[in-house]
Amino acid sequence: MQELEEYEIIKQKKIKLNEKPRPLEFTVLATHNFARASILKLPHGEVKTPVYMPVGTKGAMKGVTYQEMDDMGCKLLLANTYHLAYKPSGDLLEKVGGLHKFVNWKHNILTDSGGFQMVSLSQLSEVNEDGVTFESPYDKTIMHLRPEDSIHTQNQIGADIIMALDDVVRTTTVGPRMQEASERTTRWLDRDIAAHKRKEDQNLFPIVQGGIDPKLREQSLDDLIQREANGYAIGGLAGGEDKVDFWKTVAQCTAKLPNDKPRYLMGVGYPVDVVVCSCLGVDMFDCVFSTRTARFGTAFTDYGFLKLKNSEIANVFQPIQQGCQCQACKSYTQSYLHYLIAKEQVACHLISIHNLNYLIQLMLNLRQSIIDGKLIEFVNQFLKKWYQKEGQIPQWIIEALDYAKIPIQQI
Ligand SMILES: [Zn+2]
Repeated sequence: MQELEEYEIIKQKKIKLNEKPRPLEFTVLATHNFARASILKLPHGEVKTPVYMPVGTKGAMKGVTYQEMDDMGCKLLLANTYHLAYKPSGDLLEKVGGLHKFVNWKHNILTDSGGFQMVSLSQLSEVNEDGVTFESPYDKTIMHLRPEDSIHTQNQIGADIIMALDDVVRTTTVGPRMQEASERTTRWLDRDIAAHKRKEDQNLFPIVQGGIDPKLREQSLDDLIQREANGYAIGGLAGGEDKVDFWKTVAQCTAKLPNDKPRYLMGVGYPVDVVVCSCLGVDMFDCVFSTRTARFGTAFTDYGFLKLKNSEIANVFQPIQQGCQCQACKSYTQSYLHYLIAKEQVACHLISIHNLNYLIQLMLNLRQSIIDGKLIEFVNQFLKKWYQKEGQIPQWIIEALDYAKIPIQQI
């Protein structure tokens, strides 16, 4: 018996010695059907998932400082490669030891490939097998970006998770162009993998493509899973597709992606969508909506969107959300924020902080409900409040959650 135990100890030690250092560990703590509460361990610490990642354009949150992000409990944020490559530039970031050091952020960072930004910001962009050619929205020069260039810059920036360069097309595109983009994304992934120089401390996530065509998605899933990445992203959604197509595509991807790897749904950050997609098995989300909508004076609350510019708000002497621990809710009334919006940039800053805090807390509460075995109650309560004004929960949500084994009581 003793010998056996000793053998086990030696075997464990050997396994440890032979193990290659892995920059990512993903541990599922609790599940409810597809939904999972997990710990994602990255080079700059642990992240509780499901998680919402705020987007830090140009290496700094629009209107929100890194210190404020830290205070909110953010452990993983997204930075745009395209903006950073322009300024301060990949070379400068490499020289100072990466973006973490440059901006003094001690937690994790994810960088996008730059592809989506290019296509969405550029008036002119053209794709061929070699890469994407586009006109810089900064100085109008014609630039060319290949998979190798994107990975090189992301290696220089030094984020904990880096993204493969994909051939971006509109979600609603069908036919040969969607098939070409989906297949090219896989071919580019092999070039991304070959170009990736920091496999020991940076995780390269491939992006599942295929639009809303189940056959193309299936092919993309098969091709990408074969490459055995440390985690996977689901791309090409939240682009104006029908909500039924949206949830069914998410469900198709999460059902097939490996259970022991994190799944990141790109560009989705509307509160209802993150709740539904967490129930479908997504672990990571990002979206600029929370801060973009804050700039127009709209705040997230449990009862839906609150437009702080509306004149009746002048007479509301309560915080945006009762019980919210953010800087805006702890210190100011809706009336004061309404007054500030017309005059000061600081109002947008405060609403941004509230919206980011709202999503971070929403994810933490949802996660805790999975751990406590109370996800069904949590989701029902969330939807009941969110749709109270409308008086009805949309059918697509009820169907998606029924598939996720979360029965919903209509209001
Ligand atoms: Zn708040």
